[in-house]
Amino acid sequence: MTHDIPLEVLYKKLRNHFGFLDWWPGETPTEIFVGAILTQRNSWKNVEKAIKNMKKNNALSIRYISSCNEQVLAKIIKTVGFSSQKSRYLKQIFIDILTNYGSLENLFALKKEALRKKLLSMKGIGNETADSIILYAAGKRKFVIDAYTKRIMHRVYGIDENIKYEKLQDYFENNIKKDLRLYKDFHAQFVELGKNYCKTRPLCSACPLNLVCRKIGL
Ligand code: SF4
Repeated sequence: MTHDIPLEVLYKKLRNHFGFLDWWPGETPTEIFVGAILTQRNSWKNVEKAIKNMKKNNALSIRYISSCNEQVLAKIIKTVGFSSQKSRYLKQIFIDILTNYGSLENLFALKKEALRKKLLSMKGIGNETADSIILYAAGKRKFVIDAYTKRIMHRVYGIDENIKYEKLQDYFENNIKKDLRLYKDFHAQFVELGKNYCKTRPLCSACPLNLVCRKIGL
């Protein structure tokens, strides 16, 4: 994988433009965990509404979710798409955690790779969701790759857009400082860039990376 601008210089450009983003929003690890599941194939706006409604109904706890009526929970989170499926997944996941670990804290006490393996064994959790939970809820360093990251890395550096998740993740983890705050904010910066500039139809002239981007494929 070759590139021109070092990743951390690219990060600084984004950071100068967007500021420190303090992502992921959430008052507790449980809230971040639930948000990471709800946001799959959903806009963050809809997730925020669902989480607000869960708080209003005292439904944002591992105990509530693991013993809830799935249809009732699906109604509470109805602002997100696939709410019935997500309600089912959340219940199964939290029953598993409560039965096998007793608490989220105990689950998060696992070593990073064991935690990742456990999360990936749960229905409804794929690579991106597992790593979002590890990074933002458990506070352990795992670089999160999403569709924005792949698109931006393709356009800026020319990397294959179909690159394997772990390969791109290794690339980041081998080329940036091992710093939790940096991992968290770097991913957030890519999301912001993807949402605001590097869209399907990119807005290159206003983009903070305009002068350093190769614009591959455009
Ligand atoms: S300059 Fe254009 S292609 Fe490059 S990152 Fe910005 S919006 Fe995307």
